[in-house]
Amino acid sequence: MSISRAIAEQMERSSWIRRMFEIGIQLRKERGPENVFDYTLGNPDVEPPKAVIEALRRVVAENRPHSHGYMPNAGFPEVRAAVARRLAGRTGVPFTADDIIMTTGAAGAINTVLKSILDPGDEVIVLNPYFPEYRFYIENHGGRVVPVETGDRFQPDVARIAAAITPRTKAIILNSPNNPTGAIYCADVLRELNAIIREPMLAICDEPYRPIIFDGVRLPETQSLIERSVLAWSWSKAMAIAGERIGYLAIPPRLTEAEALRNACTFANRILGYINAPAIWQWVVAQALDATVDVSHYEAKRNRLCDALTEMGYDAPRPRGSYYVFPKTPLPDDVAFIRLLQAEGILAVPGAGFGRGGYMRLSITIPEEEMERSLPGFERAMRKCGNAGARTLTGSPGTCRTLS
Ligand code: PLP
Repeated sequence: MSISRAIAEQMERSSWIRRMFEIGIQLRKERGPENVFDYTLGNPDVEPPKAVIEALRRVVAENRPHSHGYMPNAGFPEVRAAVARRLAGRTGVPFTADDIIMTTGAAGAINTVLKSILDPGDEVIVLNPYFPEYRFYIENHGGRVVPVETGDRFQPDVARIAAAITPRTKAIILNSPNNPTGAIYCADVLRELNAIIREPMLAICDEPYRPIIFDGVRLPETQSLIERSVLAWSWSKAMAIAGERIGYLAIPPRLTEAEALRNACTFANRILGYINAPAIWQWVVAQALDATVDVSHYEAKRNRLCDALTEMGYDAPRPRGSYYVFPKTPLPDDVAFIRLLQAEGILAVPGAGFGRGGYMRLSITIPEEEMERSLPGFERAMRKCGNAGARTLTGSPGTCRTLS
């Protein structure tokens, strides 16, 4: 057997995703593909904004010399300058081209910074429930995952986080708007976090869902509120171009170790085998920096799903952002309830897959028409739970007094 033990074990631990995929194939065979309703994937169901496709056409038509070759590992200087100007304007932090490293999406940015800061056995705090890939990203670089439970409405619990910090803690990953809960972290909580994040610890702010926000909320600026933070950004969701693998890592110049970290991350980006972010897409995003998908489409689907589920008796508060609704399962055993949904042709990910049983994650990237046809199945599954289905109702995830 030539597969490493570590990879074999990690594959086993990621088995929820694989299991759902296999169950999906089986269900499609049994029921016909039109009778399977897949809520498991967070893959944009809209086309990229027109401005992005026009920018892509322009970049290809221009065909400037050396468009397709190697470049500095951190990316094209002009692109980084354009990104830095926009980010500085938004956050008030004086970013320049030097502070931006173009990456293969947010995943590339997170791996790059983790590779640069972790020694074997160093600890990284993640807030439970969390995006399961974080565990693999941290373990990729010899780190140890330290999950810390979130508090009320999935907000970071600052006291618990403070108690989890040890001399080996190198980072905490903050993800707002959040996958899987849809929570948006409040400015007050971020300020409290700022007070406990001290050298050598860094906050890695993973924000691919930043533009996917609802109800007119304004998202607090982590880069202005948390002094020791870096930003992992991606256009995967903003522009619905997840397959193109383009994003960046921003390292604020105020960090005492800014220069060393920039150099380390540029090197890490190269030796991880990314080399540099895709060339053509660097030019495209630089020409359409503000283009975002029409969020009202997601908001309408969020409203429809949460309202319908609530009407049926589910505890399904409306998330304020991201692609996900995270209702309590009517049975405390989320995996047992997911099986009841499967009997209705509905595929959902149990909360256990994110470290929090008793919930399920439903992606609102499912086509509207499929969502509509799936609703009677949710109702039948709820009825099968009988009285056990009535569980305490909570408020909207991430609701707080002051967002900005
Ligand atoms: N972080 C979170 C919370 C995500 O949900 C995802 C993708 O789903 C990523 C990072 C990775 O995004 P990207 O496609 O930009 O690498």
